[in-house]
Amino acid sequence: MIPSQFDYAAPESVEEALAALAEAGDDAKVLAGGQSLLPVLRMRLNAPEKLIDLGRIPALREIGEDGDHIVIGAMATHDDVLRNELVKEHALLLHKTLIEVADPQIRHRGTVGGALVHADPAGDVGTAALALDAELVIAGAGGSTRTVSAKDFFVDLFETVVQDGELLTQIRVPKHTGWGAHYEKFVRVAHQWAIVAVGATVRVDGGSIAEARVALTNMGSTPVRAEAVEQALVGKPATADAVREAAARAAEGTTPPSDLNGDAAYRKHLAGVLTRRAVLAAAGE
Ligand SMILES: Cc1cc2nc3c(=O)[nH]c(=O)nc-3n(C[C@H](O)[C@H](O)[C@H](O)COP(=O)(O)OP(=O)(O)OC[C@H]3O[C@@H](n4cnc5c(N)ncnc54)[C@H](O)[C@@H]3O)c2cc1C
Repeated sequence: MIPSQFDYAAPESVEEALAALAEAGDDAKVLAGGQSLLPVLRMRLNAPEKLIDLGRIPALREIGEDGDHIVIGAMATHDDVLRNELVKEHALLLHKTLIEVADPQIRHRGTVGGALVHADPAGDVGTAALALDAELVIAGAGGSTRTVSAKDFFVDLFETVVQDGELLTQIRVPKHTGWGAHYEKFVRVAHQWAIVAVGATVRVDGGSIAEARVALTNMGSTPVRAEAVEQALVGKPATADAVREAAARAAEGTTPPSDLNGDAAYRKHLAGVLTRRAVLAAAGE
């Protein structure tokens, strides 16, 4: 199917984009990489009267550092971020996660900002953002900005705190320099969306786990932090037995879906297995 007719604007600054959004009101939709939005338009699940394309705002594609944070423009593509050395050095979990997102073509078009705002519960990027305690910068009417932590950003299935008339502009990731990381994704066929996945990043000191961050994909309507596992890991040796015991708590407090790929009980089992693998791999970095 082809989409309904729409007007198109390609502003060249965030200010212009916000003004265009304010003028168009509820009938506008922001276009980033189009990898999720265009299929939605083609299926006519949404029919905005105006698309506001952020692709001509170079500032939104920059990646840099600001003190103890890595700052990623919302329009940086998955591939931009994957190839960035700062991200690899200071936010290894994000790097490892992006390797697992879709395929190279989609990684060249899709953006980290688009993936976060789209908020598919099977999406991988939100899990890394949550585990790394990322902060999301949102610009609104009149150029006002607010910063929201990843734990407060996701509201529900395909829903975040970003409102009509607002733009996600930056992802600020606290540096996790020297931390090991791994993203363990379970799929039936390569390049699919996760049935379940686990992102883990740990700081090992003298053979013991000094700090741990673990988050789960597709174990609820939003990415979920496995806090029980994190607490159980701290102070433990990075051995298979100790990690297995902690990882057994991965599904605590989760509400995974049941679908053709697996029921909730199967996903809970997977969460424990994948957490053990992810933490052991991260600790071995
Ligand atoms: C075949 C296929 C397989 C995929 N597999 C995976 C996968 O394995 N893992 C995974 O994580 N993802 C996967 N994706 C999704 C991919 O990561 C997309 O890039 C992502 O979901 C959307 O990013 P986008 O830049 O294309 O956003 P768009 O499709 O352009 O936009 C998505 C939504 O976000 C809004 N939006 C975008 N940017 C902003 C912004 N800066 N501010 C406010 N609103 C904004 C748009 O209005 C729209 O509602 C897959 C996609 C496809 C087509």
